[in-house]
Amino acid sequence: MLSVGLGFGLGLLFGSLILCLANRSLTDESFWGRSYCDRCKKKLAWYDLFPVLSFLILKGRCRYCSFKLPLEYPLVELLTAFLFSLLFVKNLPFDNNSFINYFSILNVSSIFNLADLVFQIFVVCVLLIVFITDFKTGLIPDRITYPAIIIAFLYLLISAAGRVYFFYNSLNSSILGKYLLFPNSDYFYRHALINAAPLIEGLIGAGALFLFFGLLILVTRGRGMGLGDLKLGIFMGLVLGFERSLLALMMAFINGSLVGIFLILIKKRDLKQTIPFGPFLSVASLIALYYGNDILKWYFKLNL
Ligand SMILES: [Zn+2]
Repeated sequence: MLSVGLGFGLGLLFGSLILCLANRSLTDESFWGRSYCDRCKKKLAWYDLFPVLSFLILKGRCRYCSFKLPLEYPLVELLTAFLFSLLFVKNLPFDNNSFINYFSILNVSSIFNLADLVFQIFVVCVLLIVFITDFKTGLIPDRITYPAIIIAFLYLLISAAGRVYFFYNSLNSSILGKYLLFPNSDYFYRHALINAAPLIEGLIGAGALFLFFGLLILVTRGRGMGLGDLKLGIFMGLVLGFERSLLALMMAFINGSLVGIFLILIKKRDLKQTIPFGPFLSVASLIALYYGNDILKWYFKLNL
């Protein structure tokens, strides 16, 4: 329960931040600075910034000019809260009693796990922002994808280096462990590779999706897929690794064509119009992030 509550509360707060970043990334506006009303430009007071609650209290209207606030605010906040709760339940499995235990026995490996949770929060935020911008305008801003790719790469690099370093230290500081180091044994090298696996898999995934989108854009001459999708692909590959990013790609194409056919059937679109692909990539990446390993395990069991 505590994990759910923590995730939900944090998700509500991050939800309003995500929408703000998404909207501002579409203009040249700075990412910093207080939110304001879109019509009267009055800066919002701190008590108007409570996620969902402020919206309900103000009955969805601006306090100053009673301009109708977009429904996207509470929707994105609740969606983010839901996604964060799921993430926290998966990664912080504690109840009220073990909460204090959890932090009193913090060791190196649980610190790395906490860092991974923070990183996954970051990934969810990026995917949600891309979903919103591409859904609203068909654009995936470089102001989001470039920093996201750099931060993801640096995190994977630092985390891999840190894990390998602590692994080396723990072996080196014990008498038995020393026998597992070079030149006595190749144990250290084999296990160092396991510690660095997320980085290695991420780089392979990023390379694979870069090639895939690059070729697709070349062949179709940029109709349909754009460079924004390519950059999002690099980010997906990095954070999901090779297998899960291919899975996400497959799910995105299946969902994209289903929705495309549906829109043509209900005559919202004709065959010549394209629909932005970013939202499908984002949703598929979120599913792959949360359930990718389970889906792959299940799929390969079926086929063995
Ligand atoms: Zn106003």
